[in-house]
Amino acid sequence: MRPETLAIHAGRQIDPTTGAVTVPIHLSTTFARQEDGGYPGGTSYSRYANPNRTSLEEALAALEGGARGFCFSSGMAAAQAVFQALKPGDRVVLPNEYYFVVRSLAAMFTEWGIEVEEVDQSDLSAVKNALEKPTTVLWLETPSNPQLKISDLSALAALAKDAGAWTVCDNTWATPMLQNPIEHGIDVVLHATTKYIGGHSDVLGGALVVREEGSLSEKLSAVQIYGGAVPSPFECWLALRGLSSLQARMRVHCENARIVANWLQGRPEVERVCYPGLADHPGTDIAHRQMRDMGGMVSFWVRGTEEDARKVANRCKLIIEATSLGGTHSLIEHRKSVEGPTSNTPAQLLRLSVGLEHPLDILEDLHQALAGTN
Ligand SMILES: *Cc1c(COP(=O)(O)O)cnc(C)c1O
Repeated sequence: MRPETLAIHAGRQIDPTTGAVTVPIHLSTTFARQEDGGYPGGTSYSRYANPNRTSLEEALAALEGGARGFCFSSGMAAAQAVFQALKPGDRVVLPNEYYFVVRSLAAMFTEWGIEVEEVDQSDLSAVKNALEKPTTVLWLETPSNPQLKISDLSALAALAKDAGAWTVCDNTWATPMLQNPIEHGIDVVLHATTKYIGGHSDVLGGALVVREEGSLSEKLSAVQIYGGAVPSPFECWLALRGLSSLQARMRVHCENARIVANWLQGRPEVERVCYPGLADHPGTDIAHRQMRDMGGMVSFWVRGTEEDARKVANRCKLIIEATSLGGTHSLIEHRKSVEGPTSNTPAQLLRLSVGLEHPLDILEDLHQALAGTN
């Protein structure tokens, strides 16, 4: 089946007892055991497995083309599971721009004996140099948060393979509809299902999908079921429901973001637009090669000072000034002040999660917010 169909059908079946077409929510934490000791539904206790979690894990694994999925209570719990699968002395090479809380997580794990290094992943020779020291994990995020930097998945997967390192790609911004890292040789795909997969800003969740079963997936499974940072059945149900409409929503997110990015580029109040679909974006060729479309995120630098940028975000009326992304509402934020004092993000950058509103309403709001700068 094709991705559009998998998003709707994978991991689901018509409920055999009631004929329900959407999967029922199974709140039971425990499941009755048969005389022979087995469990008829394959589920014994909800930390180990729950029918709703299993549905979501199967659907995500099918969509990413992986052997198995593991769901967690947040995107960060999924990210932490990767670090918890490592041991003291292991080394992780990270990008020089990525979700800022993963940077904080990596710093936290240095206290547990994990070595970390950041490198510009658009520079393949720099990555190659970084991989000369024995490395356990090469961590990727493309497009990156918040400046939508693009890195070459196949080239980086090949470098990591030569160096004997696992590759993990945070695919939250692209979603499985636009990019499938496993197809390009990546070992583990990470999603914050909180964002586009849930899609309505009403559920927190995370997932890992592994290319194949093996020592790494065994460790991730142990972290999931012994650590227990698992999502509730209702959260899994919401994320799975979101997945059903992901392809339709992504089409509109992509279309609206393209309109917004092109419009912003022509505005005198805007110094720079970060969006991989623009011809002058340094990663545009790679993006077109490895992504089916360019996604719903656009960042831009307001001409002027940090104060000018913050005022533009404040003046937005329809577009809500709030963090997070991937929901139906358009959201804007001054990213540096969200990331805090250690942020490397340019002070005049605003990050825009382009929602599903009519694009002209989004442009009119941006127009009035930018026009106030002068
Ligand atoms: C939001 C986000 C995360 C973390 O997800 P949570 O559900 O907030 O823990 C990780 N990576 C990226 C790229 C994100 O945007």
